[in-house]
Amino acid sequence: MSTTGSPRTVADVVAALDRRYPPAWAEEWDRVGLVLGEPDHPVRRVACVVDVVPETVDEALDAGADMIVAHHPLLLRGVSSVAATTYKGRIVHRLIKADVALHVAHTNADVADPGVSDALAARFGLTGLRPLHPPRPGSPAAGPGRGIGRIGELPTPMTLAELTRLAAAVLPVTAWGVRAAGDPGRMVRTLAVSGGSGDGFLAEATAAGVDAFLTADLRHHPAGEHLAAGGPALLDAAHWATERPWLDDLAAYLAAELDVETVVSDLDTDPWTVHAAAPRPDDKEPRREG
Ligand SMILES: [Zn+2]
Repeated sequence: MSTTGSPRTVADVVAALDRRYPPAWAEEWDRVGLVLGEPDHPVRRVACVVDVVPETVDEALDAGADMIVAHHPLLLRGVSSVAATTYKGRIVHRLIKADVALHVAHTNADVADPGVSDALAARFGLTGLRPLHPPRPGSPAAGPGRGIGRIGELPTPMTLAELTRLAAAVLPVTAWGVRAAGDPGRMVRTLAVSGGSGDGFLAEATAAGVDAFLTADLRHHPAGEHLAAGGPALLDAAHWATERPWLDDLAAYLAAELDVETVVSDLDTDPWTVHAAAPRPDDKEPRREG
């Protein structure tokens, strides 16, 4: 494809995104697709972000982006006002005034192959990938390789403690870091990963017979009961950190498909900004962990 002479348009970017992440593949509750923007407006530069928040909008505008592609919907639930006096309305106003379009690829990008969790699995070098949560047979997203989360083999088996350190090293840095649940010495060969909130897939990770499951937003009771029932070890990373790897894949796809410039946001939008590890009894100084 060539862009010589006439730049790409918002409609071209939407068409390319819809080919890879068809909107019909999104969950019923989800809201994906074009949120703001004139379809015939030219697009030379696309900003890729997980969250549309004032800080990532600043970045996109500073970078001279004509369009933002985001993972999380800005407007998921019904709204009756986008007045600039509201948090989200302020964002809507800024984008419209700057002539910046906004497109969302959320659960349709989770379920795609390659999708959000393929980029996460790649950080661990997982091989032999298969979906953790395949779509219901007959649903629009059903198809080979598709589904939420991925299961694969680690290049080298390691203990849960080693895997937790590896996860902290290969995932984007956040204050939250990575915490794990289970026997630190447990050997892990097969790992399930799911970008974003994976609380709902604990039973599937157990049924799949994996040694460990890495996701985000895990909670006390479901995690504790899952482990008590003999389920795989759990690794709980920052939500943003599990989805940020996908932005590189998204940007590479758009650049190859449309010959547009791309910028990827590394701004940590995780709400958790402070982390302190409990001091060990023999430590004189409190330990700092990053
Ligand atoms: Zn998410």
